[in-house]
Amino acid sequence: MSENDIQLSTWAANIAPSPTLAVDSKAKAMKAAGEDVCGFGAGEPDFDTPEFIKAACAKALAEGKTKYAPAPGLPALRSALAEKYSKENGIDGVQAASVIVSPGGKYSCYLAILAVTSPGDEVIIPAPYWVSYPEMVKLAGGVPVVLPAEDGAGFKINPEQLKAAITPKTRMVIINSPSNPTGAIYNRQEMEALVEVALEAGIYIMSDEIYEYLLYDGVEHHSPASFSKEAADKVITVAGFSKTFSMTGWRLGTLVAHPSIAKAVGSIQSQTSSNATTFAQWGALAALEQPDQSRAAIDGMLEVFDRRRITLLDGLNAIEGITCERAQGAFYLFPSIASYGVSANDFAARILEEQKVAVVPGEGFGAPGYMRLSYATSDDVIEKGLARLKEFCGNL
Ligand SMILES: *Cc1c(COP(=O)(O)O)cnc(C)c1O
Repeated sequence: MSENDIQLSTWAANIAPSPTLAVDSKAKAMKAAGEDVCGFGAGEPDFDTPEFIKAACAKALAEGKTKYAPAPGLPALRSALAEKYSKENGIDGVQAASVIVSPGGKYSCYLAILAVTSPGDEVIIPAPYWVSYPEMVKLAGGVPVVLPAEDGAGFKINPEQLKAAITPKTRMVIINSPSNPTGAIYNRQEMEALVEVALEAGIYIMSDEIYEYLLYDGVEHHSPASFSKEAADKVITVAGFSKTFSMTGWRLGTLVAHPSIAKAVGSIQSQTSSNATTFAQWGALAALEQPDQSRAAIDGMLEVFDRRRITLLDGLNAIEGITCERAQGAFYLFPSIASYGVSANDFAARILEEQKVAVVPGEGFGAPGYMRLSYATSDDVIEKGLARLKEFCGNL
């Protein structure tokens, strides 16, 4: 059968593969072929999972905890997460029934979108956005409405913009702070203003807080669901263990919402994926039950990330033609390369080819003219990559 004879569904025909994973796999393939690639494409911490978490998982495996678990998650893990979200994040009324443990933060996002979006519903996605949001909305039959942040606004939308983008068909707005790809963070006042607009319009908010612990320069994270009882009912908080604990391969996400939404999410999950890996959940439980060890692991990682952030930031801004904002969260910088007059896609393709530097072009994030660099990579790669970038830009 030829390619033309294969008939795909509307869903499959309309979905684009993840461009961030594409760059990363091309760079990895070049590395595997023996090439000296400086990779800034990674969307994952370059640390190992903390030992005490691995030990708890190994123990669960040894004890035979290898069977199905309840679809919405291990009861002990859901309870521990409920406690974290009520005490640490300050969300009112969170119970175990408000919490779902899913096979990855990415799946939590998709479940959140599926739970409240019907065909034709609009979902507002501020740009620059994480690559998967628009595709997920489309897979749910919804219509992604991209709302670009204004120039010079630190990659953040303001309440007037949000208000103007809301129509009778709007169902939800997606907020991701700290942000992938920009590292931007909404402060409390900015976040409250957005939540107020959303609540007034009666729309849901999906708050993707996967980077909630990766903060620098003393900034603080605010969970929009914590602002009021009403907010707790309307905000679906998604997160997971991947970024905080270097557990990307474990596939463990979380979702906190009004119990009725959580119940619907649990039903969707029970019919599509069933439970997240049982022994992985036992490992994650250790992270919540041993907060001191967790904090120490996170602090150790943050110290290294912060040093690299500054090295990369200063190095980028020292290159003529590149300007980069001082991002205060996650592990990404998002410099502008607009002054060179080439598309980010071309820039990324050429620098990988000519200088063996892997960056992710901004087009996939709804931000042409920018590129995403991850500093979840070694100091050595950062130094070497900056030198190559400088040479490349000098010849443009
Ligand atoms: C990494 C990431 C996730 C989820 O990652 P998982 O590995 O699926 O847990 C969700 N949102 C954003 C913005 C991310 O960068």
